[in-house]
Order: sequence, then structure tokens, then C-alpha cells
Amino acid sequence: MNVTVFRNATLILPDRVAAGEVVVAAGRIAAMRAAEVGGASGAGDAGTAVPADAVVIDLDGRYLGPGLIDLHVHGGDGADFMDGTVDAFRTVCRCHVRHGTTRLTPTSTVARRADYRRFLELSAALHNQDTGGARIVGAHLYGPYFARPARGCHPDQDFLVPDPANAAELLTWHEQVPLTVTIAPEVPQAEWLVRTYGLRGVRFNIGHSYATFEQVAAAVGWGVRHVDHLFCAMSDRARLRQTQPYPMRGGVLEATLYFDELTTEVIADGRHLAAELLRLAYKLKGPQRLAVVTDAMRAVDRPDGEYVFGPQEYGQRVYKRDGVGLMPDGSALASGVMGLDHGVRTLRAAGIPLAAAMRMASLTPATILGIDAEYGSLEAGKRADLVVWSPELTVEQVYIDGRRVV
Ligand SMILES: [Zn+2]
Repeated sequence: MNVTVFRNATLILPDRVAAGEVVVAAGRIAAMRAAEVGGASGAGDAGTAVPADAVVIDLDGRYLGPGLIDLHVHGGDGADFMDGTVDAFRTVCRCHVRHGTTRLTPTSTVARRADYRRFLELSAALHNQDTGGARIVGAHLYGPYFARPARGCHPDQDFLVPDPANAAELLTWHEQVPLTVTIAPEVPQAEWLVRTYGLRGVRFNIGHSYATFEQVAAAVGWGVRHVDHLFCAMSDRARLRQTQPYPMRGGVLEATLYFDELTTEVIADGRHLAAELLRLAYKLKGPQRLAVVTDAMRAVDRPDGEYVFGPQEYGQRVYKRDGVGLMPDGSALASGVMGLDHGVRTLRAAGIPLAAAMRMASLTPATILGIDAEYGSLEAGKRADLVVWSPELTVEQVYIDGRRVV
């Protein structure tokens, strides 16, 4: 059996950083030793026995962390998951693995019915397959059940009121690939959809919604447990006041911060949200309830210029400029253009501790997806998805199931 030992590492654990080593065999973390808090390095201790022919990789103190997991990603390196081809899926997955992402859920845009179906079909076909890059662990159906006024930069295409026909057409893909479906709780029949398909294991998020606090509270009662990109494309006190001057009410933003049942995510690209909003979200939700996502479109690793967000034929024209996606008139943001490694660095720059920042990009998204028994942290028994980072937190090596990919 091939055994690899990562020696002299600085391990990034969910709650601390510690000197140690990791032993990989048969695609999994076979053993791990980390120095105790305040104790001596574990690397020199007598411990894990490894075969004489084990491959030893001396990391010379570099960081070793878990593979990153992206819950919300549309594209990269010129391709979008809505392009409708296996090649496009592979291109996006290869792009993001260079940024440390080893598992992701392809995320659709608002689109036409046929294109939603194609997106789900490809996500199912490539689920857990070798893509040459990050592996697909689910699909994020994003678009048909949004509130149209809250669509943001998404194409003005088929917004659907949930009914048995369209739900059966789109959500029965859950039998082939685990589905996360974003809904606006104020859309008619949202409760029926969440209750009916929640029982079948479909995960529902709130997003692209101008719901009131009370509507979010109701959705928590239906079983919704996650909210997409906090602060973006959602109602808050100020927006709701436009239609009712008093009393002032809370919206999706305030409800997300309030309910402990709800996890959420931030686009930490340094452009969508100022550092104080990252710190606010971190302080109120904590690293176990707050993930970091890229919300990246096809311009990742491509030069500044014009791109299409979503399907080539009728997607939204956007620009990559100043490290972010912008609407053509520059009036609004239009998704991210950076990898998840940049998100970790942005959280660090905002003063969030390294172990917490890394957890928000790995164990927390794994827990949100319900795959934390297999992925998301350095722990004996879990898959050997590993990232070697430089002291400046650039990605140097990436391993999926113990095999080097980058
Ligand atoms: Zn998005």
C-alpha cells in the first residue's frame, strides 16, 4: 500500500494551528499527530509507525490544511456551469482546484427551463467523478424560485412559482446528485415546496429575497437552515421601510443574524463587503455558522474585460474590473472573480484568526452540506483532501483523495 507522510507541517485544525504530521494511505488520512496546546512539537514524538518505503514529504514548517469547499460558484477560467458542456464543467473545476478548492457545488444562474435541466443533468453525470480538478459533491439550483425584484445580476429569464410539475421536473434530480435549492420564502407555494421536498432530503436556502423577518421566521419553521451571501440581494430594515414607514421592520439580513438555526456565508473577496461587515458577521454567527464562498463567475484567472454571467446566449453582460464583477454601467456588483484562497486571505486581513478563516472555507461548508464525516478537516479517517500553503497563504500543493492534483 502506498503511504505518504507529510512531515514538519504546521497543521491548520478547526480550532487551532499546531506543529505536526499527517499520514495518508488509501486516499484517506490514516493517522495524524499534532502538538498539544502549549506543548512541544508532536512531529518528533514516537508515534505513528510508517512503512520503510513510505513517501516522506518534508513541508519545512509550511501550512497544511484541509481541501477547501465552495458552496456557491458559477464559473472560472472562461467557463460557466451554465455553458451546458462537460468541458465547461471540467474547466471550472480545474480552475478552482488551483485555488485550493477540492470539492464544490456547481451553482446555476437564472436561466431557461431547458438550461436548468442540462445543468442538473451534467452535475449528476459528473457527481463524485474525476474532473481533473475540484470534485462535484452536489448541485446548487439557483434561480427559478427567486423573487424577481431581488434577482441582482442574474438574467431575467424563467422565474417559476413552485408547482408539482416544475418541482418534479427539476428537483427529482436529487435522486442522482444532492441538491441545494435557493428560494425566496415570499414566493407563492414556497412552503409547499420546502416541506414536500425537504422530506426527500433536498436542502433549501433563502436567497435573492426581499422577505420580512416574519417570513424568514416562518421559513425556519418549514426547515430552511441556510441563507445565501449575507448582505447581498436581500431585504433589510432600510429596504422594507420604503413600503412601510413605521414601525421599522427587520428583513432577511436581520433574521439571518438573529436565528441560531440559520447558517450563512459571505463573499469575502475584499470588494463585496468591507472588513467591518466581515467582522460583524463573524462576531454574530461565529466560524461554525458562517462559511466563505467565491460566488465566482467565468472571469477567474482571466484578464479584466467583458464577460457573460450565465448562459453564453442570453446571460448578463458583466465586466471584470478592480478584482470584482460589475454591471456594465458600474452601478452594481455582479459576482466574484477570485478563488477561495483569496477569501481566506481576505478574512485574515480582516483580523479573523487563521484556524477560523480556514474552517469557514472547509469544515463549515462541509457541515452545511452534511458531508463533514468525510470532508472538511484534518482528521484521521477523513478523505485526504489537503492543501499546502506558503507562509503568505498562497496555495502551493493540492491533493484530492491523497493524489496530488496541483
Ligand atoms: Zn451567485
